[in-house]
Amino acid sequence: MVAAVCLRNVHKVYNNTCVVNDLSLTIQPGEIFGLLGPNGAGKSTTIRMLTTLTRATQGDIVVSGYDVYRQKAEVRRQIGVVLQQTSVDGDLSVWENMEFHGRMHHIPNPQRQQNIDQWLAYVELAERRDDKVKTLSGGMKRRLQIARALLHQPKILFLDEPTVGLDPQTRRRLWEIILDLNKHKGMTMLLTTHYMEEVEYLCDRIGIMDQGQLIEMGTLEELRSNHGEGIVMRKTDDRWSYTFFPTLQDANQFLEQQSDKTGMMTRPSNLEDIFVELTGHNLD
Ligand code: ADP
Repeated sequence: MVAAVCLRNVHKVYNNTCVVNDLSLTIQPGEIFGLLGPNGAGKSTTIRMLTTLTRATQGDIVVSGYDVYRQKAEVRRQIGVVLQQTSVDGDLSVWENMEFHGRMHHIPNPQRQQNIDQWLAYVELAERRDDKVKTLSGGMKRRLQIARALLHQPKILFLDEPTVGLDPQTRRRLWEIILDLNKHKGMTMLLTTHYMEEVEYLCDRIGIMDQGQLIEMGTLEELRSNHGEGIVMRKTDDRWSYTFFPTLQDANQFLEQQSDKTGMMTRPSNLEDIFVELTGHNLD
């Protein structure tokens, strides 16, 4: 099986600073892979390299079997891209945005109109097709971006911080769309985020990035079992300290054995704990 995405020893240098540092990663068809990391970790740069928008300084990138430098056009046919900055044109209508993108991808009519109808209905924007994009809410604009990215029927969807700035309810709605596209339409996805709940909820596998490096990778279960599934938190002088235990039961047992339990509590570990353990700082 040809990997959906394969990066080997990829570096990106801006102004003598290595913002992506020796990144190697393979994503299989059908996976939802999440790159989690704080602002400045190098996630967007990784997406931009994968989607042919910027060239790696060093290393190999192959998407759906095609080399991103030598076979740009083939790569672009295989991928849909939803970038962080809302890139839909506010002065055009919903339909015009779709139509423009469809023409850019040389999708002939009547196929183009069928695809536009299908994807606008899928993201529940069919009734807004003649409205100017600037009249849509943030969540609707993001759904339009997704519909547009799907218009040429790509195999892999790249989503850069898909729910940043959206309220929790709108975020949930987008998560449902992302999961449905994966489960029912077989779409492979790579998404970046600095929200740990997003990767916990959506992703089959997670890569944790910090300062340009991939510092951990695996399923949520693997990461939690490697670092410890239970946490004992202790508050001293307004500061929390955290100790990992193999299981929550072990953490509870430890707490029970303490003669003075003041300021102590236990809970299951999460990705933020693992991130702090690995880097010494928080996700945001
Ligand atoms: P993230 O998506 O994880 O927030 P980015 O990939 O956007 O991180 O940025 C990683 C680093 O690269 C940051 O320090 C950012 O300032 C720098 N960077 C990104 N794009 C450019 C550019 N075009 N020119 C110079 N530096 C850049």
